[in-house]
Amino acid sequence: MTDTVLAVLNQPSRDAAPHDPEADAFTWATPLEEHLQVQDLGAIRGDGVFETITVVDGRPQALEPHLARFVRSAAMLDLPAPDLDAWRQAIEAACARLDPVHEAFAKTVMTRGVEGSHRPTGWVYAAPSGDQTPARTEGIAVVTLDRGYRHDVERTSPWLLQGAKTLSYAVNMAALREAERRGADDALFVSSDGYVLEGTRANLVASVDGRFVTPRTDIGILAGTTQADVFRFAEGEGVATSYELLTLADLEAADALWLLSSVRQAAPIRSVNGVARSMDLPMTERINDFLLSRDQ
Ligand code: PLP
Repeated sequence: MTDTVLAVLNQPSRDAAPHDPEADAFTWATPLEEHLQVQDLGAIRGDGVFETITVVDGRPQALEPHLARFVRSAAMLDLPAPDLDAWRQAIEAACARLDPVHEAFAKTVMTRGVEGSHRPTGWVYAAPSGDQTPARTEGIAVVTLDRGYRHDVERTSPWLLQGAKTLSYAVNMAALREAERRGADDALFVSSDGYVLEGTRANLVASVDGRFVTPRTDIGILAGTTQADVFRFAEGEGVATSYELLTLADLEAADALWLLSSVRQAAPIRSVNGVARSMDLPMTERINDFLLSRDQ
């Protein structure tokens, strides 16, 4: 047992030669030692994909939806297909090796590998999540920021890779710093033609007249595993759900808003662009109880 865990995949994809079916899926490594070669395209170009998976009491949550998105993202980048048996094995082993802690996360990363090698690099890193309570109970302040793309970017310009979970998060981190400069905790991206997209690392769900509504997932945003499970929760409660095009006026008219993501789970939004919003804290608590008790 240890407080942070690193499993380096020996063969992240069966499609990349040479593939040795007898080799172990992964090798344990020490997180603080050097593992990445300086020419790795993941490091020098952000050319790779990742997932961050919530781990509760040692159990990875929404594992299969995360792995399905990992495969989709890799395909969008023309990366070799991840060998899911090897990844599952490494994730499960990393979760089991971590010191017992209520909430942790496992991050899976697959890069294009060292330039010219045609062999992807892959690893699973797991560590405790830290205290997520303040965002869940006190809410977060968000500002809206123009993403600079129209909502149909996925169709018009698929090479921009909107909708893939790539390692290129410099833009998301710049938006987060801009939000902080404006006195907020996070940013909510809006398309250049006025549709609400997603947070820098989260999806938006709005409560509208007793329904749960989220932006359509074909508008250049990530299809969220947490959002999908919140819709499953809502449907179990008899609350209608829908995927729609939402404008800022729709946001203003909503009864409550949340940003949803792995690790933080449901964070109620307490203000948008400095304007206070009412939060549904009892509902937030029920959503988070549901999310943290998922057994798959
Ligand atoms: N949108 C973006 C841009 C993200 O980075 C994330 C998560 O990291 C999400 C949405 C939420 O996805 P999930 O709920 O699967 O963690």
